[in-house]
Amino acid sequence: MTPLEPDKIDTLFINCHLATMTGNAFSIIEKAALAVTGKTISWIGKEKDLSDHLKTKCQKVIDCKNGWILPGFVDCHTHLVWGGSRSNEFEMRLAGASYEEISKKGGGIFSTVQATRKASKDELFILASKRVAALLSQGITTLEIKSGYGLNLETELKLLEVIRQLDKDFPVHIEATFLGAHALPREFANDPDGYIDLVTDTMLPKIKNQGIATAVDVFCEHIAFNLSQTKKVFQTAKDLGLNIKLHAEQLSDSNGAALAAQFSALSCDHLEYLSLDSAKKMADNHVTAVLLPGAFYFLKETQKPPVDILRKLKIPMAVSTDLNPGSSPVHSMTLVLNMACVLFGLTCEEALLGATIHGAKALSLEKSKGSIEKGKDADLVVWDIDTAADLCYLAGLTPIKMVIIEGRILHDNFKNE
Ligand SMILES: [Zn+2]
Repeated sequence: MTPLEPDKIDTLFINCHLATMTGNAFSIIEKAALAVTGKTISWIGKEKDLSDHLKTKCQKVIDCKNGWILPGFVDCHTHLVWGGSRSNEFEMRLAGASYEEISKKGGGIFSTVQATRKASKDELFILASKRVAALLSQGITTLEIKSGYGLNLETELKLLEVIRQLDKDFPVHIEATFLGAHALPREFANDPDGYIDLVTDTMLPKIKNQGIATAVDVFCEHIAFNLSQTKKVFQTAKDLGLNIKLHAEQLSDSNGAALAAQFSALSCDHLEYLSLDSAKKMADNHVTAVLLPGAFYFLKETQKPPVDILRKLKIPMAVSTDLNPGSSPVHSMTLVLNMACVLFGLTCEEALLGATIHGAKALSLEKSKGSIEKGKDADLVVWDIDTAADLCYLAGLTPIKMVIIEGRILHDNFKNE
């Protein structure tokens, strides 16, 4: 049956193939056409089913030259607003320095916290803008950014304000997450509970009041916060009506994922040490697993997330860059797709679902983003590839022809041909 035709079309894409991700599955339509009306997708189907009458009604027709259209990538886990640089630390590590030695020389997360506290809002905005622009040029059309390098009220708010400004100034859709419980600030070195009190009693109510973040995240790990501290933050977030996410089971099994599942978290992220029991709780509570192969690679970890268990329990697996200065300075989703396949054993189809509809699910945006369906936001990327698997296979190559966000054409490389 021919899909119902819209009354009006602004842009019609022809001579293309679609990987739609409809119904959380890898589904393709070859020799397809796709219509956009206003900000949304108004028609998809086989090109042969498109009536001549409809073609004449279009404002603009784009010949995709046998390219593939996929939903714009959803990068659901980044920490991309930070001050300072850690490249010297990278060189020290390559020269054999231990974390302890680096830390003694002022390196590690606290060097980022110090530089971020010192930087002005404008300085942070300029630095972060370059990173957002880089991600956009890689086909990322939706992005989550966490705070978490301030670790005091003033700087955490400054970071969330920068994120809000980025959302205003860039066409990319940005979701802000408050990660005040990222690390224990030095001024609370002997009083972790005191810092958690500051997060729950002062920071969270203020952030809720300003409407400046939609989700709350915690780093639950022996080097960060324990289960009862995590629970306190979650309870406050829940009481305030904010979504919950968790950095869980990255370096050890802290049972964080089971706790997050109890709170119906949107996602648990990292999960290298996830147990079967906790995975079952995630499945029961529809929690998305966010896999971050960039950090696994950069830290030269060896324990892989239990992909077989996630698959068996039908837990959606998202993949993300985890862009941050310490453990994943990775600015490329296609590189992450390749890493997810090679390092974690995902199939190309699973990796591509992870960077689109499952990423959207991790942000509770699956109703409007992450797949090519009639009525959804027209966030699309036209790729110059022979098959969708090329995006996982051609490590680090980004053969983009066009990026479209909410119907607006951004990068248009067809023009240069
Ligand atoms: Zn992270």
